Amino acid sequence: MKTHSPQASFESFSFSVDILAAIKKMGFETPTDIQLKTIPAVLEGKDVLARADTGSGKTAAFALPLLDSMSNENIYSRIGRDKRFDAANRAASNCVQVLVLVPTRELSIQIAEVFTQLAENIIPAIKCQSVYGGVKINPQMMALRGGTDILVATPGRLLDLADQNAIKFNQIKALVIDEVDRLMKGDFQEEIERISKLLPNKRQNLMFTATFPESISRLVREVMNEPTIINMDEFVDELEIEQRVITVNHNQKNDLLASLLNNNDWEQVLIFCSAKRTCDNLVKKLEKRNIEAIAMHSNKEQSARMKVLKRFKEGEIRILIATDVAARGIDIKQLPCAINYDLPRSPNDYIHRVGRTGRAGEKGHVISLIAHHEFQHFSVIEKYNGLNLKREQIAGFELDDVPPPMPRKSPKKKKVRLSKKQKARLSEEQGVSNTAEKTNPVETTVEQEEPAVNAHIWGKR
Ligand code: AMP
Repeated sequence: MKTHSPQASFESFSFSVDILAAIKKMGFETPTDIQLKTIPAVLEGKDVLARADTGSGKTAAFALPLLDSMSNENIYSRIGRDKRFDAANRAASNCVQVLVLVPTRELSIQIAEVFTQLAENIIPAIKCQSVYGGVKINPQMMALRGGTDILVATPGRLLDLADQNAIKFNQIKALVIDEVDRLMKGDFQEEIERISKLLPNKRQNLMFTATFPESISRLVREVMNEPTIINMDEFVDELEIEQRVITVNHNQKNDLLASLLNNNDWEQVLIFCSAKRTCDNLVKKLEKRNIEAIAMHSNKEQSARMKVLKRFKEGEIRILIATDVAARGIDIKQLPCAINYDLPRSPNDYIHRVGRTGRAGEKGHVISLIAHHEFQHFSVIEKYNGLNLKREQIAGFELDDVPPPMPRKSPKKKKVRLSKKQKARLSEEQGVSNTAEKTNPVETTVEQEEPAVNAHIWGKR
């Protein structure tokens, strides 16, 4: 067990004597690293996201400060302390004050036991209970009737109890999700999302995880309020990304983009377009505005793409314009800025794009430029990713109330090269000279490549 320096002590948290006595009885001498970092933030009522492995002492890291806040001892005189829990009152019938979600029955029993041990001196008594699946639900329903101050639950059983009206969430003041990485997988994930919608918005959120998959970063954005981040150094970048949404008329996107590129000193920018042709067109349009950029998409030869990528990685190219498919192969995680010129088709791709930015210690920026026809699609992306981003307008590029007409998509003439044999046959059929060299290349009409993104929305217009 990694404990902190000898100077660090449980007394330094000004815990109540009830709590200090329980700590002593447990045989804990000094706080562990995770306890030392987590306890002060929880005592202040802050949201906390912490990376903590099993065996790190994480249970006491959240149990001790939560119980201390529920302890009856002179709590209001302790400066800076969270005053959410009225120590004299315990949970009302069928209510819960602290909900702890865990992935397994064993963990649920174990954590409820730790709470019970640490709470044993507190008066009025604090009721701790665990509920989990695989056993009869009735005894658990009965036990919940009198109210439970601390409920440690597996998600499925909690939802069953909620469906049976055996539990009320209106008194919840804190939600702890332990092993959140395990809980944000498969069926659990949906259950966690359902549960979080049942809880009062105003609550403290504490999450503990050993790893940091993308699903957690979404949950964190969705439910947490400026969390204190602990031991997450290698993950912080992902959270430290500023996401901006700028509304603009579609016919002003190029000018706005050029203005953003000229007026910000981003070292490198990755611009996402939905179609290969848009990438190429955008390069030309930026060139006309004296901005050099390079397109990268799957129409380019593999060797050319590799070369571009190498130059971009080495910092020789400042602006790279790419489709999602091409960008997926770009192994550059530390971009200062990514711009969504077009929105990605899938909400997941949006998160992939976001994940490309952010530099150690520096904030990354993701900017989405959205025109009228993209509003609805962006709302879907936000909803799926649990985002609610502010819409900005940039002076000089304000959005019109009525969207300007979209350009008509004219069919593009494409020259098709025929083999000599084909040309000869065609000439014969047309009854003209069979001198192949004299035959003009035949022009065929093909449909213009449709932008991959928002296809359904375009269709609706
Ligand atoms: P946890 O990571 O919460 O499962 O805790 C792992 C083990 O560490 C449990 O047996 C705890 O009782 C023990 N423990 C927690 N905090 C401390 C501490 N400060 N000093 C010594 N042991 C501790």
